[in-house]
Amino acid sequence: MAGLYVHVPFCRRKCAYCAFYSLPASEEARQRYAARLCAMLTCLPRPFPAVESVYFGGGTPPLLGADAIASILDAARRHPGVRNGAEITVECNPESTDAAFIDRIAAAGVNRLSFGLQSVHPEQLRRLGREHTPEDAARVLCEARRAGIHNLSLDVMLALPGQTETSLEETLAWCLGQDVPHLSAYLLSIEEGTRFAAEGVCPLPEDSQAALYLYAADRLERAGLFQYEISNFARPGYESRHNRCYWTLEEYLGLGPAAHSFWGGRRLAFPAELEAFLEAPDPWALLSDMGAGGDLAETVMLRLRLREGLPVEEAAHPGLAAETLLLRARPLLEAGLLRHTGGALSLTPRGALVSNSIVGLLLGF
Ligand code: SF4
Repeated sequence: MAGLYVHVPFCRRKCAYCAFYSLPASEEARQRYAARLCAMLTCLPRPFPAVESVYFGGGTPPLLGADAIASILDAARRHPGVRNGAEITVECNPESTDAAFIDRIAAAGVNRLSFGLQSVHPEQLRRLGREHTPEDAARVLCEARRAGIHNLSLDVMLALPGQTETSLEETLAWCLGQDVPHLSAYLLSIEEGTRFAAEGVCPLPEDSQAALYLYAADRLERAGLFQYEISNFARPGYESRHNRCYWTLEEYLGLGPAAHSFWGGRRLAFPAELEAFLEAPDPWALLSDMGAGGDLAETVMLRLRLREGLPVEEAAHPGLAAETLLLRARPLLEAGLLRHTGGALSLTPRGALVSNSIVGLLLGF
């Protein structure tokens, strides 16, 4: 399996918590950007495996325009090739998306949409710097279904300033009422360089964060959205194939400034500079080699994110015998932070809250 990630580094304005690379851009810059991506696809080395998943992320992909997304998909179909039945996702903000956009990208083959909802509370949305209302989100979900796209996901944020179990429940109940088959629930973290960091916004206390996370995990599971990854919940058959390729160390190629790739056993990245990306005589020459990927530490860290967990035999390695791994896991199993089923170690919801420490302990750090 190979994945293709297309970064769309455009946003009208910056949300208060966001550390992703994105900036406002003129219509002309957006058109040049789309043309550049199409041209780059034609220059990929041959042979190159056909891709199984394409993900337009951002930033705000709808700002690129539906025609540009369709052209990039056409270019990818010509080379390297996109397999029939591939998952093709576009990330959208509800307020930047309308029926005409959805119809056009659905006709171009997009079959999955992921909407950044974050919350249904106007005060929380305002604090986050989001411009949409829950009504906008309900409208675009309806438009997507009318256009034949039923593989729909919502993002919600946990541990927002002032969030309580009651206000989180209202957001989750709203999402479940929309009957979406996939939901991502991320704990807010205060990242350097964001407006929240500049304003000195403090994260909720750790025990409040933990309580909200465990509440969400339990609530969504009981509603039939199974936790297949630390932050992701889905009905069976609706797990994100593209994101799975990150967690299972499949190869993927990321296009665009700040986009990362895992290719040929190496971690690669484009610099976070739109102008350089648009102006470089050969944008592929901007790709930096960040070092080898897919080592034991990455395997343990990424596989443990998934519900099916880390197959003990797969993790066995000259530096980490299966017996050693199981010996290190024993106290974590006894503490209810890990499960050992079907020959694999996996995190319990409580374990997911301290996953970094568990990875460290398993690796003997
Ligand atoms: S829309 Fe998304 S990418 Fe853009 S600033 Fe907000 S969170 Fe960041």
